[in-house]
Amino acid sequence: MEKQEKGRIKGFKIRTLNYSMIVAAAVLYAVLIYATFQVSVKYEKLIKTTEEYISCEKDAGLVREGSDYLTEQVRLYAITAKPEYMEAYFTEKDVSRRREKALEEMGELGNSAQAYEFLQKALDNSNRLAEREIYAMRLIAQSQGYPLESLPQEVAQVELLEEDSHISPEEMAGKGQSMVFDSEYQNAKELIRTNTEYFLEAIVTWTKDKQVDSAAVLERILTYQRLCISALFVLNTITFVLVIVLIVRPLQIYINCIKEEKMLQIAGSYEFKYLALTYNDIYEVNAANEVLLRHKAEHDPLTGVINRGAFEQMRELLKAVQDPIALLIIDVDKFKHINDNYGHETGDRILKKVARELQERFRTQDYVARIGGDEFAVIMTDCTETLKPAIQGKVDVLNHRLTHPEDGLPEISLSIGIAFSPKGFPDKLYSKADRALYIVKENGRCGCHFYEEND
Ligand code: GH3
Ligand code: MG
Repeated sequence: MEKQEKGRIKGFKIRTLNYSMIVAAAVLYAVLIYATFQVSVKYEKLIKTTEEYISCEKDAGLVREGSDYLTEQVRLYAITAKPEYMEAYFTEKDVSRRREKALEEMGELGNSAQAYEFLQKALDNSNRLAEREIYAMRLIAQSQGYPLESLPQEVAQVELLEEDSHISPEEMAGKGQSMVFDSEYQNAKELIRTNTEYFLEAIVTWTKDKQVDSAAVLERILTYQRLCISALFVLNTITFVLVIVLIVRPLQIYINCIKEEKMLQIAGSYEFKYLALTYNDIYEVNAANEVLLRHKAEHDPLTGVINRGAFEQMRELLKAVQDPIALLIIDVDKFKHINDNYGHETGDRILKKVARELQERFRTQDYVARIGGDEFAVIMTDCTETLKPAIQGKVDVLNHRLTHPEDGLPEISLSIGIAFSPKGFPDKLYSKADRALYIVKENGRCGCHFYEEND
């Protein structure tokens, strides 16, 4: 096949398909892995949000607990005037500092600013209430006549109002107690509670918003993942179909063609088409060579008619045939004399001429063979003795033409022995025809004789 012809092959290249599928699959897998990574990031965020909510709830609890603890201690002090309650009060306020610590922790988390404000307000309220509580403790301590040096600095420093400095110890104690039990105190406590509740509500809203956001993002990522998986499925399906169309099917076609010893049908991918065309080129060359070789093996190089070997093969084949045949054995008369007088080359030209004349005289279904130096044979298929006159006519024409040459070659004649067989080519047919030839030679040559049983 010419190079240009192969250059015109159209078809999808397996290499291109392979690379395209690798790239597409790599992109899809990369997106999938990225999406999976994003899912874990979002999931961690979701968990962190929940943890933050729990921590905020704890902080709110601490502010409230701290505040309630102070109330409890100040009230116990107001009722009992026992210094240990005052001490416990200040330990909570200045050392344990549960309320402040909760707020500091909140600040570190960096949660919702609004929520932080509510908790800050609750703490401010609690601190304002502490001023009232300390004043109340000062009144109680004064009513008990405790020396100032025995009191914590914060209490000792409190300046009693003018109106409170002249009242009786009982009134002082009464006012101190009332300051931490009256409705004003209760309202302030209520405000602290309300602010911590607001804080918790704000945190709940903030957490929910964050969860909704994260859930939406997660849903989006999962949608991308589903899309990627679907695309991968489609990609795989396309690959399988293309493998069948471009590789498996052409292979089956090629195997069938090879089994049937046919040229390959051009199918499949570019590579397969290229292979098929190359195979077909080689196939054609081989077939042509085979024809040439067979022709060479079966034909006589000088005259072009079939040679002795092929004649013998045909004889074998015709043994099994049921049809009647006739065998003619033809010998050039006094051919040695031609060679001797005109030279070998002229002899060769005469042999070629005899072969040509024989082919022209006989039917295409008959076989003309050169079976020896100047000896030829004709096998006439489907031929019975009824054709004797026709054969006789052919021999006469042949000899007339050869004895009256118009081509400048010397005149020659043929002696022909003929034998018939009603069925195929029996072993004795050849010797019968040969015997008939011998009779012609004996009787002066240039003619023919049909073998008779008593010859
Ligand atoms: P007859 O009439 O008895 O057949 O006499 P003849 O001279 O033809 O005798 P025969 O058939 O025995 O001779 C055949 C001759 O053919 C002998 C040989 O030199 C010649 N010959 C054989 N092959 C070739 C060939 O290829 N070319 C040429 N020019 N001569 C050949
Ligand atoms: Mg001869």
